[in-house]
Amino acid sequence: MKKTSINEVVVYCESCKKFTRQIVDKVNHFLHLILTMITFGIWSFIWIYIAIWTFRYSECLKCGIRAKYISVK
Ligand SMILES: [Zn+2]
Repeated sequence: MKKTSINEVVVYCESCKKFTRQIVDKVNHFLHLILTMITFGIWSFIWIYIAIWTFRYSECLKCGIRAKYISVK
């Protein structure tokens, strides 16, 4: 069964010295939306923090090193 909680991207790995497939942690926005409603908006600060943090790092599938993820938008 394929995991839907992870995002796969192809980015340059400093350790492998080439472009590799890497996993970027995906934020469960639906869960955070519920938590934001429960906490009357307080959770949105944590939500933003998590969203920024998780999309800054990716894990290389070849060497397993967790490195900075440079997003190509
Ligand atoms: Zn690597």
